[in-house]
Amino acid sequence: MSATIESQVHNAIDAAALVDVQRQFFASGKTKDIEFRIQQLKKLKQLIIDNEQNIMDALKKDLNKSPMEAYGTEIGFMLADIDHTLRDIRALAKPRKVKTPLFHQLGSSWVQAEPYGVTYVIAPWNYPFQLALSPMVGAIAAGNTCIIKPSEMAENTSILLEQLINQHFEEGFLKVVLGGVTESKALLEQRFDYIFFTGGTEVGRYIYQCAAKFLTPVTLELGGKSPCFIDETFNTNWGIKRLVWGKFTNAGQTCVAPDYILVDKKVKQKFVDLFIQTTKDFFGENPQQSPDYGRIINERHFMRLSRMLEKGTVLMGGQTDISNLYIAPTLLDSVSVEDVVMQEEIFGPILPVITYEKLDDAIKLVNSRNKPLALYIFSEDKMYQERILNEVSSGNASINECLMHVAQFELPFGGVGESGIGAYHGKLSFETFSHMKGVLKKSTITDLKQRFPPYTEGGTNLIKKMIGWFL
Ligand code: NAD
Repeated sequence: MSATIESQVHNAIDAAALVDVQRQFFASGKTKDIEFRIQQLKKLKQLIIDNEQNIMDALKKDLNKSPMEAYGTEIGFMLADIDHTLRDIRALAKPRKVKTPLFHQLGSSWVQAEPYGVTYVIAPWNYPFQLALSPMVGAIAAGNTCIIKPSEMAENTSILLEQLINQHFEEGFLKVVLGGVTESKALLEQRFDYIFFTGGTEVGRYIYQCAAKFLTPVTLELGGKSPCFIDETFNTNWGIKRLVWGKFTNAGQTCVAPDYILVDKKVKQKFVDLFIQTTKDFFGENPQQSPDYGRIINERHFMRLSRMLEKGTVLMGGQTDISNLYIAPTLLDSVSVEDVVMQEEIFGPILPVITYEKLDDAIKLVNSRNKPLALYIFSEDKMYQERILNEVSSGNASINECLMHVAQFELPFGGVGESGIGAYHGKLSFETFSHMKGVLKKSTITDLKQRFPPYTEGGTNLIKKMIGWFL
């Protein structure tokens, strides 16, 4: 794949025309047919299966993802997502009857999912395949058309996505638009019926402002600093393995990666020793040689992460190699909450360890900051788990597990506060891309004549008595 995104988007896109084509397609009513949606989802699934190797190759070039990582977090994830959607789609698309209280008799009521229309999905570079397609699956299932703008930074995957989608689907239905900020902004000047953004918090704020111009509803899947609490009872076998795996998958470039450790002083040394040993077990003495360890996406992010290594004491790792965009799995001690590594989302293979003596102080520290996307607790103590869960607000939480809540399709996945607005996955993806229209249908056989003017005192008294009938 020699073409670059820049060469492909040399000519400015005609954003208005792209949206117009989709508006016409939506108006044709094709996407409202449930059989059409099912057929398109099956076609997408087959396309992914047929292109497994191409997808792996692109992810290898962009992020040095190993086949296992590429399959587990991107390809297999998408196949499971589509299967899950296909399993539930008919039930979700059916109008859902709700209770009709006595006051509304003779009548019936239901909630009917209605597609929004033309939707826009903006994706980041870290899971460039999955995070572009998973929202799109929700948009298709709910009966929308969709324009997708993958990230310009994961160039190989984005170009592959463009080929796969644009060559196999009508452009009025699905269209991948390559490009960066300019193209994305041009599209945001158009009226969309739903915008689904995954990316950084500051860009998310801008997207929200653009959407406000047309009162377009949005989902904002953003980032943040996800804390990880560890107490004396943490599991030294599977627990520590899951944590090390979760931190260093995709070289730490995961929105829900543990961003910093809060460990009970009593077990700090034990935790550090085990963490270092487990990292060695996974990636060997020199992780740069490991086929299973990823690379930083580009020089800009490499430099940003390198600056984070300037403060604190390195307990493990710390080596960098710009020629290879390599940053070693790194554990940092003695950082201050003022240091950049504790001020900004890390989004890389660096993990600061903060020691606490009182859990109160650790909780206070987390709660003095923006609400995180994920919250991790490694402990066998139920009281400890419950206390943190109840006292710390976060988009999602995992106990004795890392990252995997994202692949539990029965759970909503999303942020809260600065880590995002809205959630998706599983049934919620369908609902996210649907307007839930409430419908009340009345029989015309009879009615309560007192509800109509001219009003009488007797009529008012009767309505007062009937108030409980509303329930
Ligand atoms: P980003 O916000 O820089 O870019 C995301 C997308 O937005 C890209 O397609 C980019 O071209 C586009 N974009 C960038 N600036 C824009 C602008 N001014 N106007 C319009 N479009 C613009 O994010 P990124 O660097 O690709 O991804 C990293 C961030 O994403 C991290 O903060 C991470 O936590 C977050 N993230 C969140 C999730 C989640 O599910 N919550 C998942 C992955 C990444």
